[in-house]
Amino acid sequence: MNGRKVIIIGAGPAGLAAGLQLAKEKVEVEIFEADRMVGGISKTLNYNGNYFDFGGHRFFSKFDEVNQLWSETLGDDFVLTPRLSRIYYKNKFFDYPLKPLNALSNMGLIDTISVMVSYVKSRIVPVKEENSFEDWVSNRFGRKLYSMFFKTYTEKVWGIPCNSIGADWAAQRIKGLSLYSAVCNALFKPKNNDIKTLIDQFMYPKYGPGMMYEKMGKIITALGGKIHKNCKVTRIERDGYTVKSIRYVDSENFESIAEATDFISSMPLTELVKVMTPSLDETIIKAADSLGYRSLINVDIIFDKEQIFPDNWIYVHSPEVKLGRVQNFKNWSQHMVSDSKKTALGLEYFCTEDDEFWCLPDEKIKEIALMEIEKVGLVEEKYAVDGYVVRVPKAYPVYFTGYEEHLNAIKSEITRFKNIQPVGRYGIYRYNNMDHSIMTGLYAARNILYNKTNDIWSINSEPDYHEINQKVTRKRFDVVLPEKS
Ligand SMILES: Cc1cc2nc3c(=O)[nH]c(=O)nc-3n(C[C@H](O)[C@H](O)[C@H](O)COP(=O)(O)OP(=O)(O)OC[C@H]3O[C@@H](n4cnc5c(N)ncnc54)[C@H](O)[C@@H]3O)c2cc1C
Repeated sequence: MNGRKVIIIGAGPAGLAAGLQLAKEKVEVEIFEADRMVGGISKTLNYNGNYFDFGGHRFFSKFDEVNQLWSETLGDDFVLTPRLSRIYYKNKFFDYPLKPLNALSNMGLIDTISVMVSYVKSRIVPVKEENSFEDWVSNRFGRKLYSMFFKTYTEKVWGIPCNSIGADWAAQRIKGLSLYSAVCNALFKPKNNDIKTLIDQFMYPKYGPGMMYEKMGKIITALGGKIHKNCKVTRIERDGYTVKSIRYVDSENFESIAEATDFISSMPLTELVKVMTPSLDETIIKAADSLGYRSLINVDIIFDKEQIFPDNWIYVHSPEVKLGRVQNFKNWSQHMVSDSKKTALGLEYFCTEDDEFWCLPDEKIKEIALMEIEKVGLVEEKYAVDGYVVRVPKAYPVYFTGYEEHLNAIKSEITRFKNIQPVGRYGIYRYNNMDHSIMTGLYAARNILYNKTNDIWSINSEPDYHEINQKVTRKRFDVVLPEKS
C-alpha cells in the first residue's frame, strides 16, 4: 500500500496480530512496546530455565482464523493438555467443574440439603431485577452455593463486593452453566454438551504463551516490520480528530517522535485519552478516571519436590488466606520446568495497584505466599528453593455496576477519530481473552488494508460466549460450536 505507514502501540497479542497482518501485506509497520519483551499480559518469563505465565494461558477459540494463526505460527510446538482444576474451600478440595459425588461427599448431608433448599427457593422467588453478579449467580445456583463457590473468590479477584459487580460480567463468563445443567452434565455426560465453561483439554505452547508471541514478533521483523522495545508512548499528537504523530521515550528516557498515516493502539483506553495532545475534553478525562483495573501479583516459586498436586491450577476460595489461585506449570507442559524432579508454582494475588499488599517489599510478599501455601496444605514452605515476585498492573478491567456509562462516553469520542483504532483487552476496556484481542487487531488491520469498517467494539460483546465446547487435537484446533446457543 503506497504511502501508508501504520504505527501500533503495544506488542501484546492484539498489536502483534495487527502488525503481522499488515506486514504480510507489505505495509510499513512500526510497533512501539513499553516493555523489554513482547507478549503483553500473555508473555512468559524465563527464570533460570523455568517458565512462568502471568496466570496460566489456555489456548482456545471459536474464531477459525485465530486457531489458524496460532497453528501457522507455532506448528507442532504445542502440547495437548488435559484440564484438571479444583476449588479449595474450608479445608477441602472440590472438583471444578463441580461433580455431584465429589461435592456431596465434601459438603456433607446438612450443607447439601441447604444447597438444594436454597436452589429451589431461588427458582420460586428469584431476584426480579438482576443488576449485580450476586443477583445473577444466586438466581441460577441458589444463595448457598453462590456463597460457597462464587462470593469469596470473586471478591478476592475484584476487590469489591459481589453486589457492586455488574451482572453482565457473570453473564459473559458463566452463561449456560447453572446448578441444574452442571449436575445433569456430571450425571449424564451429554454428547452435545452445551455447557460452555466445561472444557476438559486445551492447547498450550511447549514453553508457554510467550513462545507464541515471541515467534509472531520474529515473523513481523523478518517481513520488514519494526518492533521498538522499551519504548513507551507518552503523547499522541492530533489535529482535530486526525492523529499526526506519537512521542515516545526509550529506556534512557530519551524522547523521540514518529509519524504515520494510521495508528492502532492497544495501550489502556483510559491512558490513551490522557496522552492525546492537545487534551481531550475534561468530561472524557473524568470518564477515564472513573474506570479502573484490578492488578495481579505473581509469586513464582520453585519447590524441591517432584509432585505437589495433579491440577493445572487450584482456585483458593477460603477467605482466611489472601492467596487467590495457584498454577502448577509443569502440569501445563512438562517443558516448563528445567528439572523434572522439581515443581514450579505460580501463586496469584489479586490486588489494586498501589494498595497495601502491592506496596509490600518482595521479600515480605514471598514470606506471606509461602506461609499461605503451607496453611492451605498444598506444600510445606521448607521445600521452597528459589523464587521471585512479579507485579502485573492492570490485569483486569473492572466491570463495576454503571461502568458502561463512562466507557460509552470515551468510546463515542474515540470513534470520532479518523485514523486511530483502539484494540485489545485494555485498548477497548473489555475482559478479552487472547483470541478476542487478536481478532480486534485483525479487524483494525483489515480496516486499514481494505478500507473496511469492521466494528472492533463488537468483538466479544455478545453476552453468551466465553468458553465454548471445543474439540482439540494434537495437530490442529477443531472448533465444535455448541449446537444451539
Ligand atoms: C491472570 C490472567 C490469565 C489469563 N488467562 C488467559 C487464558 O487462559 N486464555 C486466554 O486466551 N487469555 C487469557 N488471559 C487474557 C490475555 O492475557 C489477554 O487477553 C491478552 O494478553 C490481551 O492482549 P492485548 O494485546 O490486548 O493486551 P496486553 O497483553 O496487555 O498487551 C498490551 C501491550 O501494550 C503495551 N503498552 C501499554 N501501554 C503502552 C504505551 N504507552 N506505550 C507502548 N506500549 C504500551 C504493554 O506493555 C503490553 O505489552 C489472561 C489474563 C490474565 C491477567
